[in-house]
Amino acid sequence: MRREDEAKKTADDESSLDNESERSLLNLCAEIIVQEVQRKVRLEKEPNGFHLPDLGYTCHICHGSASGENSWYDKYGIKCMRCQAAVNRKEIPPTVATKKDSYYTTYELNDYFGLFGKTLKELIKRKVIKVRTLKGEKYRPEVNLFLIADNKEFLPPKKLVEGKKGSTVIDGQRYNTWTPWYALKNPLARLKKYKISEYLVITQTEPPAENPQSTE
Ligand SMILES: [Zn+2]
Repeated sequence: MRREDEAKKTADDESSLDNESERSLLNLCAEIIVQEVQRKVRLEKEPNGFHLPDLGYTCHICHGSASGENSWYDKYGIKCMRCQAAVNRKEIPPTVATKKDSYYTTYELNDYFGLFGKTLKELIKRKVIKVRTLKGEKYRPEVNLFLIADNKEFLPPKKLVEGKKGSTVIDGQRYNTWTPWYALKNPLARLKKYKISEYLVITQTEPPAENPQSTE
C-alpha cells in the first residue's frame, strides 16, 4: 500500500471510530431522555413517587446505590430508601436531594473550614451547630448534614466560600489553577457576620524563599 493510501486508510478508520462513538453517545443521550420522559409521565399518575424498576442508580442525598426496591423516585429525584424514610419522618427536608447549596456535609466542613473531629463534636454537643443525622444501615454509613437554614448565624451561604479559577504558566505551558476562598484577599472579612469566623485560624503562607546557593 502506498504511503498516501495508508494515511487515508488510517484517517478513514479514525473518522469511522469517531462516528461510531458519536452515534453510541447520541443513542445513550436519547435513551436517557426517553427514560426521563417515561418517569415524568408515570409521576403524573403516581405523584407520591415509586420504586425505579431498573438497577444502577445513585441516591442524590447519600450517594449510595438506589435501585429497584431500595430506590424512590419523585419530584425531588432519586433517593435510596434509607434517605427517603428520613424524608418521610421529616428528619431531613426533601430539598437536600436537589439543593446542594442548602447544606454542608462533614467532608465540606473540613474542606472549607478545617472543622472536624473533636472540635466539631464539641460544637454539636454544645448545640452551637445543629446537625441532621441519617442513621447508618448495613452497607450505608451514617451521614451528617449541616443545613444552612438550621445554622443561619453560624454557617455562611456557600457562595461566600467559593474559590476562584485561574491559570498560570510554568515552562511555557499553561495550567489551570484553583484558589480556595481562604487564600483569597481578606478571607475572614467575608465571613465576619457568621459565628464560624470565631473558630477559624487562617495563616497566610509565603512562597518559599529562593535558595541563595542556587546558580540558576
Ligand atoms: Zn441515600
